[in-house]
Amino acid sequence: MLIKIYVSFASVLNKKEEMNLAKNGIATVFCILFLGNILGGEGFETTEVSKEGLALSYFDALKEKFEKGVGKQDLLHLVDSLLEKESVDPEILSLLNTKINETYGDPWPIDTNPYPAHNLYHSWNTLLPHPYKNDICSHDSESTVCLTDQYMDCGYNHPFKGVVTSRFGWRDGRHHNGIDIDLVRGDTVVNAFRGVVRLAKWTGGYGRTVVVRHHNGLETIYAHLYKFLVKAGDVVDPGQAIGRGGNSGASRGSHLHFETRYKGKPVNPESLIDFKRFKLLSDSLVLRKTKSGFVAFQPGTLFHKIKGGDYLYKIANQYGITVNQICKWNGIKRNTILIAGRELKVSK
Ligand SMILES: [Zn+2]
Repeated sequence: MLIKIYVSFASVLNKKEEMNLAKNGIATVFCILFLGNILGGEGFETTEVSKEGLALSYFDALKEKFEKGVGKQDLLHLVDSLLEKESVDPEILSLLNTKINETYGDPWPIDTNPYPAHNLYHSWNTLLPHPYKNDICSHDSESTVCLTDQYMDCGYNHPFKGVVTSRFGWRDGRHHNGIDIDLVRGDTVVNAFRGVVRLAKWTGGYGRTVVVRHHNGLETIYAHLYKFLVKAGDVVDPGQAIGRGGNSGASRGSHLHFETRYKGKPVNPESLIDFKRFKLLSDSLVLRKTKSGFVAFQPGTLFHKIKGGDYLYKIANQYGITVNQICKWNGIKRNTILIAGRELKVSK
């Protein structure tokens, strides 16, 4: 019998979250977090036994139960009681995962991360919207972020289907790190991708703010809310209501200030979302590290490396596009000085 174990730490954060069962009809997915009490009464606090030893004994006990043909209901009950435990050692789960892989030769999807995209961030801050230091991306070059991950069941839902009143980029001498969407106070704002609420509190100029960390590594920010409908630690699905829109913080008139960030760096939301059609531009997004942050573009986007003697009209002609398009795609003006060696986006 092929049985899969799926350890979802998201479930720890929201114990009510249902467990995913009977995947593909042959594999059963279980949440097993803390095997101590059930499988012999040992806790992870035990110091005499090595982590490898513990992982192995849990594996043996687990295997024995499976081979004895423990009923689904019993296992569910077992899983329920495991979820009551709050502490967990990811290293032991990792070892258990390796052991299972060795035995069954099948990649068992054990997620040992306590929070979404923990491998990218290594921290979880529920008080500050921007807690990240530059060193979490100092060695990055280019990565592709999956926006519609079937395994993680993360589709996209538009946060609020309204008119864009201010875009990402420079505005009155300051950089606008998000996009503003017009709304009426009390309108429902929904979560974009599946994830976990990292922060839901009043934060300076943002006013009432919700920050959600997603499994794809992005974080989304929803600011100037009138009312919260979630709290930090909540597991949220795409389309789930997270707050009511409003005018809190430094805001002139009710609107939603929406940001997409990667490792704390603002990314133009319009590089992944079509704000007129309220949907994603494509299934994935390429993020390329720059000196100050990340530029985001669709896979397959063309770039032109600026050479000495280049000018916008010449480049536009070369690619059969207009100067206006170059300016728009790169957030530059017609009189921006072109620096040799830099790259310009020459396709949408
Ligand atoms: Zn704004």
